[in-house]
Formats: sequence, C-alpha cells, structure tokens
Amino acid sequence: MKKLGALIASVAISIASFTSVSFAQDKGIVGISMPTKTSTRWISDGETMEKLFTEAGYAPDLQFADDDIPNQLAQIENMVTKGAKVLVIAAIDGTTLSDILQRASESGVKVIAYDRLIRDSGNVDYYATFDNFQVGVLQAESLVAGLKERFGDVKPWNVELFGGSPDDNNAFFFYDGAMSVLQPMIDSGEIVIKSGQMGMDRVGTLRWDGTVAQARMENLLSSTYTEEKLHGALSPYDGLSIGILSALKGVGYGSGDMKMPIVTGQDAELPSIKSMLADEQYSTVFKDTRELAKVAVSMVEAVMGGAEPEINDNKTYDNGVKVVPSYLLKPVALDKSNAKEVLVNSGYYTAEQIDN
Ligand code: BGC
Repeated sequence: MKKLGALIASVAISIASFTSVSFAQDKGIVGISMPTKTSTRWISDGETMEKLFTEAGYAPDLQFADDDIPNQLAQIENMVTKGAKVLVIAAIDGTTLSDILQRASESGVKVIAYDRLIRDSGNVDYYATFDNFQVGVLQAESLVAGLKERFGDVKPWNVELFGGSPDDNNAFFFYDGAMSVLQPMIDSGEIVIKSGQMGMDRVGTLRWDGTVAQARMENLLSSTYTEEKLHGALSPYDGLSIGILSALKGVGYGSGDMKMPIVTGQDAELPSIKSMLADEQYSTVFKDTRELAKVAVSMVEAVMGGAEPEINDNKTYDNGVKVVPSYLLKPVALDKSNAKEVLVNSGYYTAEQIDN
C-alpha cells in the first residue's frame, strides 16, 4: 500500500513537472541571434529579450556570434533545425542571410530584423529599431553645439568624420543623418574636413572596431594636423569614440593649451559616460535597449497570435527586395549636463555604476 502511495505521488510529481515544463515552452522556440558581446548593448538586448520571452511562455535560444559571419549563419541554421518558430536577428553583415532565411521561410519560420535591417531578402517580416537617421542628426547637432561652446572664437572648425561598419545598413543612416546637418556647414566653409576624407566608402570602420578608428585617427593626426589643430570628430559609436580619444590624448590633446576636440558617440556605454563626466568624450546617443527588446517581443506575440504587430513606419526601410514594415523608437541625445540624470532615472544604470 505504502509502495503504491509512493508510486502515485511520484507519478503525480512527474506529471506536474512535465506539465510545468511543457507549459513554460508552450509557445515554442524563439531564436535570438545577436552579433557580438564586445559591445555591452548587445548583451543587454539579448538578455532582456531572453527574460521577456521566457516570461511570455516561449523557449528562447539566445546566441552571440562573435562578429563572425559563418558563426552567425551556423547558429541561425541550428535554431531552424531545432524547430524555432520565430527568429529575432541583429545581423553582423545585413546582406549574408538570404539563403538561410529562404530555408527558414519554407519551414514557416517568421523573421524579425532587430536593430539592423536584413537586406536582400523577401523573408523579413518586420523590423524593430530606432530612428537611425535621427541618431545621426543628434550626433551632428551635438558636435556643432560642442564646437560653438568650446571653440566659439575659432573659425573655420577643423572636423574629421568617422562612419560605422559598411556592412551594417544603420551605418549609412547614421552618416546620412549627420551629413544632413554638417554638409551645409561644409558648403558654407564654417566646417572644414582637412583630410578631404568624406563618404562612407572612405570613412567607414569595418565591424565597428575601436582599434581601427584609433589607428585612422593617429594617421590623420600625423598626416594632416601637425600645424593646425583638430576641433571635432564625428563618431557614430562609443567604442570608436574611445579609440579616437586615445589617439588624441596620445599627441597631447586635452592638456595644456591643446583643448580636447569635440567627440560624439552612441549607445551610452559606461566607459563613455565616465569619459563624458571627465570632460573627454563630449556626447553620446542613448537608445534604451530594454524598450527595443519589448518591441521585438510584442511583434513576436502578435505574429504568433496571427495578428498584425504595431508599426509606425512603412516607407523608410527598403531592404532591396521589399519595404520592411518597421517600428522606430526615439533616440535621446546625452551630454555631461543630462547623462547621469537620464540614465539613473530610467534605471538603465545605477548612480554607483556611473560613479565608480
Ligand atoms: C547599432 C548601434 C551600435 C553599432 C555597433 C549598430 O547597428 O545600431 O547601436 O553602436 O551597431 O555595435
């Protein structure tokens, strides 16, 4: 009798645990493919989605691809083989996924492009991102504000331009947004690009690599700025800004009578926030990755429920095959005057993280 009781109890426990496991994964596997861990934003994007998908009853499969294209392809292939119903992808190279997405779509898998547009594929259902043109506008506006503030008595202003990775569609939007502000000032002679290096083909930084930006700044300083001083550098990402600042500090900017040039950025990464508070980097653009993760999760929920996700842009993001219906969030410009307040009040960082 005792034995039978124990048996019933153990069967009940296994049924209970089986139902709870299967309940937790009821809605199926969601593949989350992030490009790299070298920039903290992607870790935060990935981990926030992992948590939200789990809470919503999905089984998330989160992978980071170490900025290696074959690695990302293999990870996505594996997600499809495991039976993922949806893929949320921030591509390393937005043009390399057409084949795998074709196969995914043949198995009925839905695809959300996350932050970066996936190009050259009709098999991209929706796109969750920020207003990337506006990111560039904010970067250039803060560059000009900084130039006025620090170099108001100097004319023209000597500026150099840095672009993001040419295989990332966003890099062109950031550059074009920035140039919508800077080009008229270049045309009028208020700003001079002394090196003459302009256009994404000349100023792009493959894989957003800070050491590449540092080396390019070092070359520019020794080739072009031995007599005249540099006043500003347009940088589209904090990781590049830190490299650019090291090159500048290396030749004495920021000490004595060599005022630090105005250097912009993006992502509100902690080293850059600290650098801003120490009067080195001038500004950054904050994009709340938690909000973007929420948008992606709600898109997946809608798609899986057979509904249309909420979209607020249906014209900007033509991927070469189709205009991908998008939801764009608003980026926020930060400089020394508002960075700590915005980041701490929104809970993105604690005051201790910023101060220590
Ligand atoms: C993202 C930026 C990021 C950059 C480098 C871009 O696609 O939109 O937020 O700074 O990649 O990781």
